[in-house]
Amino acid sequence: MQLTFRRLDLELAHRWTIARSLGPDGSGGSTVFEVVLIELVDDDGVMGLGEAAPSARYQENVGSTMAFLRQVDATRLSFEDFAGSMNYIDSLGANDCAAKGAINIALLDGAAKKRGQPIYDLLKLGFIEKKHITSFSIGIDQAEIIRRKVLKAEPYPILKLKVGGPDDRQNLAALREAAPKKTVRVDANEGWKTKEEALKQIEWLPGAGLVEFVEQPMPASTPAKDLVWLKRHTPLPIMADESYLSAKDAAHCAECYHAVNVKLVKTGGITGAHTALQAARRAGLKTMIGCMIESSVLISAGAHNDPFQGVTAQKGILSFKDVLEKSGLRVKARNLRARPSDGDGPAG
Ligand SMILES: [Mg+2]
Repeated sequence: MQLTFRRLDLELAHRWTIARSLGPDGSGGSTVFEVVLIELVDDDGVMGLGEAAPSARYQENVGSTMAFLRQVDATRLSFEDFAGSMNYIDSLGANDCAAKGAINIALLDGAAKKRGQPIYDLLKLGFIEKKHITSFSIGIDQAEIIRRKVLKAEPYPILKLKVGGPDDRQNLAALREAAPKKTVRVDANEGWKTKEEALKQIEWLPGAGLVEFVEQPMPASTPAKDLVWLKRHTPLPIMADESYLSAKDAAHCAECYHAVNVKLVKTGGITGAHTALQAARRAGLKTMIGCMIESSVLISAGAHNDPFQGVTAQKGILSFKDVLEKSGLRVKARNLRARPSDGDGPAG
């Protein structure tokens, strides 16, 4: 088996800002998001694709991801021995979930291609067309830009608004003006520092109408007793994202939240995400599958311009109907020069 990898800069059409990256003067955020694409090719020429979208929030970046990948001995990996290959990858250290996830995905992609199956059939998960609806995420911005983004997201039935800045009320009002009837999910990305502040910022949200839930209102490091208090008092369901890294956090999140957001970069790939989803459901939590800014290799949310053709998200509905690749991840490379891509998009 041969492993190759390269960095890909996803250029965003709009600056992408969330509570964590917002500067005191309203600056901050980024216009480029760096990911790492990997390819595993076996002796039969079968190629498995993977992607890492490392996040500084989890002490990972492109440099640390590539350093991890450099130490991988690809001769220890095999599409025929998925479990053995992952045992080897997990033995390389406790961290680097994004890099491990890329290998996990590439191994599954190759294994499924060898059997001529999509991964969702290989794992006996199946895929139901017209069932899974994605939301369109809108970063923190000026109200006028929010309004324009909302109009641009017209085909998407559900919006996610990033909050945790000083202008949240104006921004939600601008969203509501442009989309009076759409369901909105709100994501504070750990932006509110005390339980009282979080409750105050959540309490006015139902007045905006059709707000479905609030994601990660407080830092993941918040003592459980404060989160339990917030869960008891909040008028809207609260969802863990930064607090739910993997299945091991299920009991804590069941105590402190109503739901969890599972992401492949946190769980170390598809296998960990599946385990994290099952653990959350067993604990009585509602679940959502989210993503970082990434191309369709990783999340197959291919509705924004990306260098791959994968799952589509027209009108927010995930579909493989028009996908040419029939097996593995069901992703095909278009070309590897990233075209400008909209950072605000079907992302988590
Ligand atoms: Mg989130």
